[in-house]
Amino acid sequence: MGPRAASPETWIQPRRKGLYVIPGDFYIDPTHVVETAVITHGHGDHARPGHRRVVATPETLAIMQVRLGRTSKDSPTALAYGERLRIGDVGVWLAPAGHVLGSAQIVLEYRGARVVVSGDYKRRRDPTCTAFEPVQCDVFVTEATFGLPVFQHPDDGEEIGKLLRSLDVFPDRPHVVGAYSLGKAQRMIALLREAGYDRAVILHESLRPLCALYEDFGVGLGDLEALNERSGEPLAGEIVLAPPSASLGPGADTGLDPVRVGASGWMRVRKQTKGRGAELPLVISDHADWNEIFRTIKDVGAPEIWVTHGREDAVIHHAGTLGLKARALRLVGYGEDQE
Ligand SMILES: [Zn+2]
Repeated sequence: MGPRAASPETWIQPRRKGLYVIPGDFYIDPTHVVETAVITHGHGDHARPGHRRVVATPETLAIMQVRLGRTSKDSPTALAYGERLRIGDVGVWLAPAGHVLGSAQIVLEYRGARVVVSGDYKRRRDPTCTAFEPVQCDVFVTEATFGLPVFQHPDDGEEIGKLLRSLDVFPDRPHVVGAYSLGKAQRMIALLREAGYDRAVILHESLRPLCALYEDFGVGLGDLEALNERSGEPLAGEIVLAPPSASLGPGADTGLDPVRVGASGWMRVRKQTKGRGAELPLVISDHADWNEIFRTIKDVGAPEIWVTHGREDAVIHHAGTLGLKARALRLVGYGEDQE
């Protein structure tokens, strides 16, 4: 940041409706209806309906269209990664966040200062979306969903291996994987394919539209079958993907004693595993773990860190020990369930 740069806290402020960028008169991922929203990604707590104008990647706009029926009141502005836009006096561009298809960090440039709002992100490879790209900046806004040293996500391939081994051990039981419809479901399928699983994956109806959208954007998911079209056919030994809370409905023979599989960063926490009824917990997360958060902070070279949704205190404390300036944004309205 040059000597005449405007201090970012004077022009970006947490407000009741979300993070507000004053010289551009827009919000980032607002939790209430606003005139202009720049959206990081399609998860429900970030991409809400009803805004007048929406700016997001083409993928995120397509996801919003599928989930909400309509992206915004006026026609939306699609901004591809790296493409530049001016909103008011602020330069805006998007960089990949590696969280789900279309997820973006929002890069804001104003009077010689650059601020990056990363939204939700992760650093490990994900075959279903573009990898996170570190952008040098003066202030980095990071999530802290898994912002405690205890959170160190294991290798995805090892976790998928546990699922495949369980199928070998229990060939007569269907394995029902609880997976959110945006991101986790498609990543689980892609990881299974990479591990050599080439049988059809059975999908709960509610997961089909976004799987189709991913395929439209070139993310191959292999052979998929609809759960509700399998009535009467046995599910023994199959992998079924369903939302974590879904009942399998009349299409499934529940007499088969399914193995309930959880797939989440929270599966690290025994209490959460029990609460979610997961017999086979897999620690597969679409959020940065503790090490990824601090590797990213190092990579972007920002002297100042703003921390939001999650375990702000631990991240702020540790950033302080590294000689960085850090503060909590205390934004409200973002859940932890979509990861
Ligand atoms: Zn998210």
